[in-house]
Amino acid sequence: MDIPPHAWLTIDRAALAANWQRFAAAAGPAACGAAIKADGYGLGARATLDTLVPLGLREVFVAHWAEVAALLPLPEGVRVAVLHGVGPADMAAALALPAVPVLVTAAQVAAWAPTGRPCDVMVDTGLNRLGLSPEAAVSGLLDGLAIDTLHSHLTCSEDAASLHNARQRAAFADLAARIPARRYALANSAGIGLGADYHFDLVRPGIGLYGGGRAPDGGRLAAVAGIAARILQLRDIPAGASVGYGATWTAARPSRLAVVALGYADGYARSLSNTGAAIVGGVRCPVAGRVSMDLTAFDVTDAPPLAEGDTLAIDFDLAATAAASGRSEYELLTGLGSRYSRVSR
Ligand SMILES: *Cc1c(COP(=O)(O)O)cnc(C)c1O
Repeated sequence: MDIPPHAWLTIDRAALAANWQRFAAAAGPAACGAAIKADGYGLGARATLDTLVPLGLREVFVAHWAEVAALLPLPEGVRVAVLHGVGPADMAAALALPAVPVLVTAAQVAAWAPTGRPCDVMVDTGLNRLGLSPEAAVSGLLDGLAIDTLHSHLTCSEDAASLHNARQRAAFADLAARIPARRYALANSAGIGLGADYHFDLVRPGIGLYGGGRAPDGGRLAAVAGIAARILQLRDIPAGASVGYGATWTAARPSRLAVVALGYADGYARSLSNTGAAIVGGVRCPVAGRVSMDLTAFDVTDAPPLAEGDTLAIDFDLAATAAASGRSEYELLTGLGSRYSRVSR
């Protein structure tokens, strides 16, 4: 049965390609990979691969082994690294799937070494999230391990002035001089913009590919995700009428509302209540009242004429929506949910 969609998530593949090419160019001689964990930050890991592999992408990063399984068959020549490494419960999957673990604990190293297979290793230089401590990494634990890439991950890369950056870079350079590996990798999207000193042999951009954060030169990246939803009802309300749960918005004048099929279950954050907007013919139409699970009302009083059944384009500029919602750009993308009809263009 052909059931018409009520909300659309548009993925602009040309924008994704252009963003990756900016990071790849900024990385210079270092290889440019792509973090495609969490289904390509919610926008589609497969679509990301299919868009970027023809441009030269060869190195991708996921968090979980199940994310590798979901990507099969892999395009020819693509290497997948699993950032969470391989715990005891993952060993069978790790031995069966065409990906390498990024080993993050001493126990993982001990369990993987007897396989004789290649791996990556994560060292922690200050984030205190995953990875071997520098002391453990140089203790002899890694001797004899076939390390493809030694990684570390930056704590404050979005803040170019942070002292953590140079400190972590120096700690990583010191480890790189002492731990043999084919390659060394430190930078995420924002880390690439910190300069060539941070690039080593391979960079791991994520959010920037999907339009979040800043380009390596500080400029704006191309927007990749767009959302739109169907107008289920138009209603005209008098001045003084309130809208939505909790009656948090009251019409200051006779107003026209468009009630659309989009809500927090679609990742349209509840904190966009009275702060988000739709855009109709260039006119900003603010959210009126609370975002509910499946529905949101927009004040379209000043918009060009609309009809029930029309599609409303939602303002999903990542920086503005992050500011309006108090959510990070990462949360906005990865929270988009499964009810959209996904359209690639
Ligand atoms: C998610 C992740 C990245 C990508 O980070 P962005 O800030 O999205 O560019 C890079 N490296 C590691 C280890 C990650 O977990």
